[in-house]
Amino acid sequence: MERVYNFSAGPSALPVEVLEKAAAEMLNYGGTGMSVMEMSHRSAAFAEILADAKALYKELMGVPDNYDILFLQGGGSTQFAMIPLNLMTNTGKADFVITGNWAKKAFQEAGRYGDAQAVASSADKTFSYIPRLDAATFRKDADYFYICVNNTIYGTRFRPDNLPETGDVPLIADMSSNILSEVYDVSKFGLIFAGAQKNMGPAGVVAVIIRKDLVGHAMDMTPTMLNYQTHVDADSCYNTPPCYGIYICKLVYDWVKAQGGVAAMEAFNKEKSAKLYDFLDNSAMFKGTVVPEDRSLMNVPFVTGNEELDAKFVKEAKSAGLENLKGHRTVGGMRASIYNAMPMAGVDALIDFMKKFETENK
Ligand SMILES: *Cc1c(COP(=O)(O)O)cnc(C)c1O
Repeated sequence: MERVYNFSAGPSALPVEVLEKAAAEMLNYGGTGMSVMEMSHRSAAFAEILADAKALYKELMGVPDNYDILFLQGGGSTQFAMIPLNLMTNTGKADFVITGNWAKKAFQEAGRYGDAQAVASSADKTFSYIPRLDAATFRKDADYFYICVNNTIYGTRFRPDNLPETGDVPLIADMSSNILSEVYDVSKFGLIFAGAQKNMGPAGVVAVIIRKDLVGHAMDMTPTMLNYQTHVDADSCYNTPPCYGIYICKLVYDWVKAQGGVAAMEAFNKEKSAKLYDFLDNSAMFKGTVVPEDRSLMNVPFVTGNEELDAKFVKEAKSAGLENLKGHRTVGGMRASIYNAMPMAGVDALIDFMKKFETENK
């Protein structure tokens, strides 16, 4: 079996051990004589999968007891509406930091339901940095303060030691593309959501960690399915949940735990990304696009400065088994997404290929 090194930004590579386990359990899960895809979501076997997924996620993320964990549908983007519908309900104000397309989409969607304000933006330099924030510009009476922690397209991140100081205003975070990659203190947040397909499982599932006091204040017009209360009350089984996706997430959690948990993933991701950034910083041909202090551990955009050469690189890399290195259309160039499941050998192979390409195209 030939597998490539898949640098896709999402959906992205999953650990081989997870795929093998899912394959082995495909026809007959745990002696039930059926696959997880075929079983009732009310069955004992699925109830156990869901409970295990929740318990493992809680353990890995260090989620305090005053938070609920939900596995919902609609991907990351549905949260862009669900958050304002549920939380923009006291003063109707929310503050946003615009660090890229995903933050902008969340901001625009919230603007349909209330008074959304951008307190800072890095649009002036193609989102190549995280804006320095001045807490004096935050609205003290906002219902929440929103950030996208890791900016998948532009390769920036709010480090765990660089989160906005929002005081009593709940900090809401999109962690779709860096969930389980680095230790963040959950107690600093009101809500953390993550679409699964970057670092946690298949597309469609979104895991939500929400502080209990933020549940139960939705606008009257909120559709039942978009009310967090509905899903808290039904323990994520109000309707048929994305059963198979949750099962894969559970296998990924088992895998992360076996690696030593999130702190061990963080150490590994720092080593992996540092290798690539060091190479970029010393290359005469390739150059990273993000300021060093805000660099993502997960998404590494880089350019040669020559569009034709970029295209040639992407094409030849693909022939060499290094897939999905084309950058997002708004940035151009290349982007290597090196999520938890990317082994060091994949990064080494990429660096070796870049060295060879540099020599051949001087
Ligand atoms: C991919 C992504 C999303 C959107 O996720 P969907 O599941 O496609 O809706 C949102 N935020 C971030 C940071 C992402 O990387």
